Amino acid sequence: MKTATSLGKKSLFAAALGLFALTGLAPQPAAAEERAKDLFGAEKLPTATAPQSFGFYSKGCFAGGVAIPMDGPTWQVMRPSRNRRWGHPAMIALIEKLSRDAAADGWPGLLIGDIAQPRGGPMLTGHASHQIGLDADIWLTPMPDRTMTRAQRETMSATLMVDEKTHLVKDALWTPQHTALLKRAASYPQVERILVNPGIKKKLCDTVKGDRSWLRKIRPFWGHDYHFHMRIGCQPGSPNCKAQEATPDDDGCGKPLAWWFTEEPWRPNKNPDAPKARDLMTMANLPRECRAVLDAPGPASAEAATYHGDAVPIAVAAPEPEAPALPAVTASSTAGLPSAVNAFMATPEVGVPVPRPRPGN
Ligand SMILES: [Zn+2]
Repeated sequence: MKTATSLGKKSLFAAALGLFALTGLAPQPAAAEERAKDLFGAEKLPTATAPQSFGFYSKGCFAGGVAIPMDGPTWQVMRPSRNRRWGHPAMIALIEKLSRDAAADGWPGLLIGDIAQPRGGPMLTGHASHQIGLDADIWLTPMPDRTMTRAQRETMSATLMVDEKTHLVKDALWTPQHTALLKRAASYPQVERILVNPGIKKKLCDTVKGDRSWLRKIRPFWGHDYHFHMRIGCQPGSPNCKAQEATPDDDGCGKPLAWWFTEEPWRPNKNPDAPKARDLMTMANLPRECRAVLDAPGPASAEAATYHGDAVPIAVAAPEPEAPALPAVTASSTAGLPSAVNAFMATPEVGVPVPRPRPGN
């Protein structure tokens, strides 16, 4: 009867657990259940703290973000209403550099798509990655030679570079300048991967002569037929940023690319309504520092955290009108934030200096 007794105890225990669950008495930290995309998607401004990425490209957040200005001499930001022109300062500096270098190469200027939300994290719509400020989408449409209005930036349609049936690049649209732009982006040591549609990868594989070493960084992926996605590595000062595996050493033009031109990758999704990771992720799934990132003070305005190159300080915290009610602090919630600058110290008077882009890139 020993077995029966222990079974009985087990089911009693299970029933008790069920009761807890039903009556809401189970000891659950309520905050951990909040959907991370709702919290991060609601943030309008970055933290006014030192730049730091936490976690992985598809599961993390970042502090100390800066915005790329809406317009520069060689770029324009698209879809501004999404408020996704934020990134790690190293990312923003690199996009600006790419825009200048590409212009010198003969590309009229960059149309900037999504970079990240002000504090990163999962997004309300689109993108599994773009969470730690180190991913950026750049259109494959050259910048028009006029400054577009806000409305035009919201509605201008992108050029699909790939035929949806054959998955091959539309030859009438592809130019040597497209190739040069991707080559330039791949040339930067910080850039680890560039995601493009398989048709674009194939076009490069079939046409690039001479130095083909950069093709290693060009990775085929679904979508990415009107833009490319540039990903840089974890930056100095981010010990809790999780690096991505290195790409294989070869040009990636062989067997793995051939797979994309079989039927398998294009089979219809059997379960299209299944929730995506971003719909399920709670704060408990993200690095614990992301809670402190949400709680940290922000700058006075978006302009105060807009990157203007070398001269302008960024990330000046907004003045507090009265003594702020700071959230309860636990040791773990501040772990990983720089000890000198975190959410729970007095509002800093001056900006945190932006790390300069590496020279010579
Ligand atoms: Zn992207």
